[in-house]
Amino acid sequence: MSATEMLTGAAACARCATLQKTCCQRAEILVTEGDVRRITAHAQRVEFFEHRAPHDPEYLVPDEQDPHWLQYTCRADGTRRVLQRKADGDCTFLRADGCTLPLEVRPLVCRLYPFAYTEQGITGVDSEYCPTRALATRDRPMTEVLGIDASAAEDWRQTLYQELRDGTP
Ligand code: SF4
Ligand code: SF4
Repeated sequence: MSATEMLTGAAACARCATLQKTCCQRAEILVTEGDVRRITAHAQRVEFFEHRAPHDPEYLVPDEQDPHWLQYTCRADGTRRVLQRKADGDCTFLRADGCTLPLEVRPLVCRLYPFAYTEQGITGVDSEYCPTRALATRDRPMTEVLGIDASAAEDWRQTLYQELRDGTP
């Protein structure tokens, strides 16, 4: 049986890690003030985020599909609240066997990935990081391989934007 037929959830991400650098090793993870509160309460540490200019300047270009994203996420100096990374680029919460944060504590953008979304709703699936050719098929997209429930994702999306609207970048 092929990997695309067998793998789900964490196993798919573990397989991903044998193929390439994963999202947890490459992505810059935006955190809301709600994320910071939840992680602080769980991890009992406060020095896990910082304000940093995005590595990719594309993040500073207004998005017509999501016109408020920039004002919600970027300060006037062009920095965003993101998780710290280790010297090799890995997320500060990544260990050899995966993320050390339980799902309900992970940053909302981590829980939502690889769904693509705007303030209006879920718009599709992002394929920037996931090795979709190796793990997904046309009949079994990455969100299904990863076992992400679409209604849970919609709840997280709504929470994400609510926290962005209520908070400061
Ligand atoms: S918080 Fe967890 S899921 Fe998110 S990038 Fe870091 S290790 Fe990955
Ligand atoms: S979410 Fe995608 S990119 Fe991230 S570890 Fe899993 S398969 Fe890899």
